[in-house]
Amino acid sequence: MRMLRVVDALERVIEAFDGGVEFWTTSAKVGDGPLLGYAEAQRLLEQPGPPVVLLFGTGWGLASDVVARADRRLEPIHSPREDGYNHLSVRAAAAITFDRLLGRRAG
Ligand code: SAM
Repeated sequence: MRMLRVVDALERVIEAFDGGVEFWTTSAKVGDGPLLGYAEAQRLLEQPGPPVVLLFGTGWGLASDVVARADRRLEPIHSPREDGYNHLSVRAAAAITFDRLLGRRAG
């Protein structure tokens, strides 16, 4: 927790990284425009490049202006349910996302 810094705007994050940062958003919804799949996301994270900031929302999700300014949108975590309902708590979504992006795989 000592590594955490609370900031009140995305601009503070950009300043902290001297402008060289990418924002990747997450959502339960597919929405419009291209999505970044997890295999490609893992590949990108292994390449040299700017730091990536993963953005998670609360309540109704991320504000549309935050999504609009993002560099990439990660594909939603899909549900095995028949009705497709996939709205997770943010802590569950964050845990699954970090594991998919950074978790070690056997073999
Ligand atoms: N209706 C909101 C949406 O579509 O994002 C749900 C908000 S949910 C309570 C809080 C956050 O968890 C979301 O903003 C998103 O960051 C993350 N989240 C929830 N379900 C997700 C899913 N299936 N895939 C990816 N992220 C998800």
